[in-house]
Amino acid sequence: MQPLPDLSVSDRLVVNQTGFTLWVASFRQTLHTTPAGWFVAAWMAWGRVPDKNLLLWLVLFFAVWMMGLLSIDRALKDGCDQQTHGPRLRVMAALDGMAWGLLGWLLAGHDVLLDAIMVALLCGVSAVNAQVYVSYIRGYYLQSGLMWSISVLGLASHANQQYTVDLIVAFSVFQVLMFYHSSRIANRVREGIALQLSNAALAQQLRGLLTKVRIDAATDALTGQGNRRALDALLKQQLEFSVSTGQPFSILMLDIDFFKKINDVHGHLVGDEALRSFAQRVREGLRQGDVCTRYGGEEFLIVLPLTPLQIALEVAERLRLAVEAEPLPTTPPLAITVSIGAATYKTGQTVDALMAAADSALYKSKRSGRNQVQS
Ligand code: GH3
Ligand code: MG
Ligand code: MG
Repeated sequence: MQPLPDLSVSDRLVVNQTGFTLWVASFRQTLHTTPAGWFVAAWMAWGRVPDKNLLLWLVLFFAVWMMGLLSIDRALKDGCDQQTHGPRLRVMAALDGMAWGLLGWLLAGHDVLLDAIMVALLCGVSAVNAQVYVSYIRGYYLQSGLMWSISVLGLASHANQQYTVDLIVAFSVFQVLMFYHSSRIANRVREGIALQLSNAALAQQLRGLLTKVRIDAATDALTGQGNRRALDALLKQQLEFSVSTGQPFSILMLDIDFFKKINDVHGHLVGDEALRSFAQRVREGLRQGDVCTRYGGEEFLIVLPLTPLQIALEVAERLRLAVEAEPLPTTPPLAITVSIGAATYKTGQTVDALMAAADSALYKSKRSGRNQVQS
C-alpha cells in the first residue's frame, strides 16, 4: 500500500479511520453470508471425507464466526475506533482466514474432484474478501494470506494425490493476482476517501465564507449596523408582512444635529468615532427585534416591527434623551443631540412614500429648532 503523498499525518489518520469503519461494517455483512460457504463445503464433502473431520471443521469455524460477530458488534457499538478495536478485529480476521484455511487441511486429500472444488471455493472466498477488505487492505493480506498458507500446507500434506501440485500452483497464482489487483484498487479507494473528506472540509469552509460575505454585504463597515442594502430588503419584507397581516410597523429617521461642526473642529477621524459611538448608543436603546441601519452619512434609519405611531414616538423620544443625556465617550467626549422624524406605514403606501413621510417629519424637527421628535 502506497502512502498518500499530499496528506498531513492527521488527515491520513482520518482516512485510515474512515477506511477501517467501512471495513468493519462490510466484515459484519460478509460474516452473515459465511454459513452459505459452510453449506457448500459440507454438501460437497459429505460422505467423501471422514465425518469427524467435517464436524471438527464446522464446530471450529462456528466458534470463530460467533466470536467475530460479537467482537464486531461491540466495536460498532463503541464507536469503532481503529486504535481501540483494531487489534482485536485483526485477530478475528486472522482466525477467519485460518478457519477457511483449515478446509484445505481437514477436508482435502480424499477425492481429487472434491479438492478442486474446495480450492475453487477458497478462490471465491478470497475474491469476495478482496472487495470486503478494500478499504482496509492490510486486513485482506492477513486474512487471505493465512487462508492461502494453511490450506496450501494442508493440501501439500496430501501431495501424493493426483493434481494436488497443480491445484496448489493454480491457487497460488490466483492469490498473487488477487493481492496485486486488490492493492491497486485499495489505493484508489483511499484516494477517493481522502478526496471526499477534503471536499467536505472545503464545502464547510465555503459555507462559512458565504455566510460572512452575506453578513458583510448587509453591514455598514464603520458602525457595524445594517447598511442601505439591508434596509431596502427589510422595508420590502416589513411592507409585505404588514399587507398580509394588517399589523403596523414604523420607521424613525435620525439625523445628528450640526455634525459637520464636529468634523470641522475635531477632524474626520473623531467624526467617525462619534458615528460609531452614536450608533452603539442608539442600538442599546432598542429592543431585540428593532433594526438600526445607517441610511446616509450621519443619518440612521430605524425599523420598528409591529409598532404603531404612538409607540414609535415614545421610542424616538427615549433615544433622543439617551443621546442628549451624556456626551459620547469619544476623545474628546462630544455632547451631541439628534433630530428624529417618525412615520408609520399606511395601507397602500409604497416604501418610497413611507420614507418621504419620515424625511419630511425629520425636516420639521430640524426647522423647529432641532433636538426633537416630529411625525
Ligand atoms: P444638521 O443635520 O443639524 O442640519 O447639520 P449637519 O451639519 O449635521 O448637516 P449636514 O448634512 O450638512 O452635514 C452632515 C455632515 O456629516 C457632512 C459630512 O462631512 C459628515 N459626514 C457624513 N458621513 C460621514 C462619515 O462617514 N464620517 C464623518 N466623519 N463625517 C461624515
Ligand atoms: Mg444630514
Ligand atoms: Mg445632521
